[in-house]
Amino acid sequence: MNTYARKPISFERGEGVWLYTDSDKDERYLDALSGIAVCGLGHAHPAVAKAVADQATKLVHTSNVYQIALQEKLGAKLCQLSGMDAAFFCNSGAEANEAAIKLARVYGHHKNLKIPAIMVMENSFHGRTMATLTATGNRKAHAGFEPLVPGFIRAPYNDIDAVSSILENNDNVAAILLEPIQGEGGLNIPDSDYLSKLRALCDQHKILMMLDEVQSGNGRTGKWFCFQHENMQPDLVVTAKGLGNGVPIGVCLAKKEIAELFTPGSHGSTFGGNPLACRASLATLETIESENLCENAAQLGKYMLESFREKLSTSEYVREVRGKGLMIGIELTIPCGGLVDLCLESKLLINVTADQVIRLLPPLIIEQAHADTIVEIVVSCVHKFTESYKK
Ligand SMILES: *Cc1c(COP(=O)(O)O)cnc(C)c1O
Repeated sequence: MNTYARKPISFERGEGVWLYTDSDKDERYLDALSGIAVCGLGHAHPAVAKAVADQATKLVHTSNVYQIALQEKLGAKLCQLSGMDAAFFCNSGAEANEAAIKLARVYGHHKNLKIPAIMVMENSFHGRTMATLTATGNRKAHAGFEPLVPGFIRAPYNDIDAVSSILENNDNVAAILLEPIQGEGGLNIPDSDYLSKLRALCDQHKILMMLDEVQSGNGRTGKWFCFQHENMQPDLVVTAKGLGNGVPIGVCLAKKEIAELFTPGSHGSTFGGNPLACRASLATLETIESENLCENAAQLGKYMLESFREKLSTSEYVREVRGKGLMIGIELTIPCGGLVDLCLESKLLINVTADQVIRLLPPLIIEQAHADTIVEIVVSCVHKFTESYKK
């Protein structure tokens, strides 16, 4: 169906940070998007390729009717990395948020709230299913799909006072769900103590703090999870995109007391956490660890941010350069969707979100020379684009 405005280009194979349109012509593109924060290890990473190929010869799927050793191993690893106690596996970010939303409602009923509500943020993105679409703070995404799902309350992002006053005036809030950095919403980075302050409010009002790290997790911001930049712990965290390096998987991780609200039959997924997806994800996490890719993302992200700031500071059309690790946004003062095509002509893959924010999500494996090329092409395209805008 016609749900994407696709670019007239397709890729046949990839290797590391490169994507090739045709093996004969050897025409290659530098990937600064990673399939939207999915392929953190780049394309065709040997560790993941080997794990997937080997697992395919052993066992792909049995269903959650039986024990799945690889799922237990991955769950334990993710709990260790996140500080959570239990995992529910599914196949996408939206599904992982659905699990979180269902847990929040069970928690609300457990607390005897009449109509449990979940607080979500303006400009957020949580997925395209009915509940996650409703949780998403974007009117355009809602349009045409009404009636939306009841039980959500919206607050402005990065505004502690607003959350506080909503909680003072509403006894039915069971949980708050937010992204530690808003990705789709324009690469919005909150104050450095925002999550800790929200944590304190959640404790005060005895509501769950749930983080959507679908995009910001798995090393993307220079830590395993973005919340780890602050000294705090959420009650629940979901992730997906970068977890399987392209093999679909999502997970909802929670503290023991919350996780235990689900009992056999409460929730489920046919494919969720099957041996193939778990094997791919284990290989991905092991590689992020063994190749020190969190550190690499932190270092090269900082380097790119500084380079962009230096080279774009003179442009009157650049409002702000911001980022954490390899989640980088360049906000212009004008709509800049056309930059995607300009960069494509220069054989660089980027993305523009929220109309006027250039979004860069390069693979965590990039090297300094790749970072230099990305900066060079983006800067020259921004200049070209804004020059022609003047005329
Ligand atoms: C991409 C994204 C989702 C949705 O993930 P899907 O796998 O497309 O369902 C949810 N939350 C955030 C923060 C995302 O970036």
